[in-house]
Amino acid sequence: MPKILRRIAVAAQSKDSSAVIFDVTGIVNAAAPKGKDFSVAKSAEEKTTWFGELKSFKDNASVKVHANVDFTKSILGFKGKIGSGSMEYTVSFLMLPEKPMPARIQDLRVGVFPVGPSEGSMRYDLSSAEDGYKGYVLASRWRLDLSDTTAWLGGKTVTVKNPIVWYVDNTFPESWKEPIRKGVLAWNAAFEAIGLKDVMQVRDFPTKEEDPEFDPDNLRYSCLRYVPDATMNARGPSWTDPVTGEILNASVLVYNDVIKLINNWRFVQTSQVDESVRAVKMPQEIIDESLVYVISHEIGHTLGLMHNMG
Ligand SMILES: [Zn+2]
Repeated sequence: MPKILRRIAVAAQSKDSSAVIFDVTGIVNAAAPKGKDFSVAKSAEEKTTWFGELKSFKDNASVKVHANVDFTKSILGFKGKIGSGSMEYTVSFLMLPEKPMPARIQDLRVGVFPVGPSEGSMRYDLSSAEDGYKGYVLASRWRLDLSDTTAWLGGKTVTVKNPIVWYVDNTFPESWKEPIRKGVLAWNAAFEAIGLKDVMQVRDFPTKEEDPEFDPDNLRYSCLRYVPDATMNARGPSWTDPVTGEILNASVLVYNDVIKLINNWRFVQTSQVDESVRAVKMPQEIIDESLVYVISHEIGHTLGLMHNMG
């Protein structure tokens, strides 16, 4: 079993014990994000750290934390302060599914992300025919319930009861939205090969009238988010049930300067054979098709796939 991270004393509870109060300060402070080039010291500087907006949803909640922190950096084993500043981050709490999904053991030959690598993710099989312990980890994967199992077993293509729905951030540059949708839907071809249709779906951020429950901070919704930042990349993280490996939520973060990366890639990798990319600024159709590639790559990661995907 995964390690229990912490036990927290109940500070107060309602008469029927259906609601409890407990102190989460330690957990929230420990969740301060780390940057690529720095770590954060004194994230629990309590006098200058405060909680902002608190949101509560059906099975998850989030809190915005405003913290004043010191940034530290390690160089050749020496750790030093490189500055200080304010940061705002969001911490989410999510209930694990009541009905656990059947787990699958990860097989490195298939190239699916393991559950972990946090402490406690390694399991041991003592009944192995091999000498000694046999260690294994669980695979990360989505739970898809077939709409008609009999038809599927009979070789028919069927839909699923719980498609993987993606919501496209409304702050993306308008011209990016269509390539983003295509990048998500491209994966339907892979699902169709195993007899499932319309598994991947894509929608715009709904309005309050269309879906009053919608909020990008609600972990029931997987979102593609626009990050106005100079990082030349995109990312596709996901969050799994540590007990079963079920992927419960995923995000794709697309940084603004992924466009620069696309320019560089296409120029360096394809200009030998493609005259149209011998330019400082790529033609729109080249940007579009490259964005489709970037998005479908990141969506592949959110499906639990490592770098062996096409
Ligand atoms: Zn990748």
